[in-house]
Amino acid sequence: MSDAVTPSVNVPRGEFDFEHRPETDQSFENALAKARAGDRLSVADGIELLTTGTDRSGIDRERKERVLEAADRRRAEVVGEEVTFVANLNNNVTTACNTGCLFCNFKDRSEQFRASHQDDHDGFTKTPAESREIVRDAAERGVYEVTSVSGLHPAFALDAEHREILEASDREDLNYRPPGEYEKDPATYVEQIEAMSVDGVHVHSMTPEEAYHARRGTDWSYEEVFRRLQAAGLDSVPGTAAEILVDEVRNVICPGKIDTGEWLEAMEAAAEVGLDTTATIMYGHVENEAHRVLHLDRIRELQDRTDAVTEFVPLSFVHEETPLAERGMVENGATTHEDELLIAVSRLYLDNVDHIQSSWVKYGDAQGLKMLTCGADDFMGTILSEEITKRAGGDYGEFRSVREYADMIAAIGRIPVERSTDYRQRRRVDPGADTLGPRLGPKADGTPILTDR
Ligand code: SF4
Repeated sequence: MSDAVTPSVNVPRGEFDFEHRPETDQSFENALAKARAGDRLSVADGIELLTTGTDRSGIDRERKERVLEAADRRRAEVVGEEVTFVANLNNNVTTACNTGCLFCNFKDRSEQFRASHQDDHDGFTKTPAESREIVRDAAERGVYEVTSVSGLHPAFALDAEHREILEASDREDLNYRPPGEYEKDPATYVEQIEAMSVDGVHVHSMTPEEAYHARRGTDWSYEEVFRRLQAAGLDSVPGTAAEILVDEVRNVICPGKIDTGEWLEAMEAAAEVGLDTTATIMYGHVENEAHRVLHLDRIRELQDRTDAVTEFVPLSFVHEETPLAERGMVENGATTHEDELLIAVSRLYLDNVDHIQSSWVKYGDAQGLKMLTCGADDFMGTILSEEITKRAGGDYGEFRSVREYADMIAAIGRIPVERSTDYRQRRRVDPGADTLGPRLGPKADGTPILTDR
């Protein structure tokens, strides 16, 4: 038995009276043996690995290293030594949102955006013309993916038909106000997608939560919504707004959001119409290890049904300046041990998802690189703008050039590879080349995205 045991659970996390607890009738050694053999893991196995054994409290460092090693080996078997990244841009359309998720500091209450509101605020809304300008400028620089995730602005409608339905409705529960009441009109989702679908740029947008907003007040199916968006230029769907896919956790951290079943329904619909998706987990707030593994289990089942999930993205909760922290419901985020184990167990549990992402925005450069030895194989993207994490207190900057990627990945002895959003196009990058910029996009010719990097 190792004597190097460190506390694993933040104090407040144990205080919630959840039905699901990290308790199993499995043993750590059995779970690890199954993981090493490549057997499909059960929820109990996952909990054993994530806790480094429920037979003792805290994280056992020696056991943790064995889990990380098993995950790193699995990573090598599944995807080899390549580490991928994409040349992308974040263009979030608006920060106006009434949903009130307690982990979020990206939103600004939408009342502040109304024309009648007198006080200043630092939120923003972009028109489709502004979005197009931003994406076009990025495309000129060689960027070929735009990720767009926005607040649920009350004036947003899917399209003109949806707006008519919303205008004609007298329901007060629809979270709708006409665009004329706001300083700036975000127009419709379809118009925003059309605007961003320019110069061959891949549009990665419309989370399940946004898709729900885009059909409120109608009996349209999610398939119908995604079909219209796809016709406007949508290429793939980010599986964000997942947080933890267990309703007893969602009820605490985001009671205004769609529930687990609805999230999964929307994701299946996106896959059904032929859109690729990603999937995420946001952990390290009020949930426990049982919730994390149940989440992984739901993603694995989703992937069994759809085969549309291109990558899994673990997002460690950035607690600073969020209502959860301000209300004293959490005192900190996940520990580094927890982060490493989450990446590793994601790799071992999700036997049907090829790519696990390490987010340097959440973990920082050094730890982000470390995650590439814990089971991760994708290192995000260049990200020309990253409002979401910046506003929630993350402090790891907003942009990584192709050169920085090449140097960082080569420094840990792995192979830097530029990829397309869907991983179908891949290009090995030579860190020794004089100039390094993206080459996979329609306008990407190897020139650096920014002149000085
Ligand atoms: S997470 Fe999204 S839906 Fe929730 S408050 Fe923030 S912007 Fe709104």
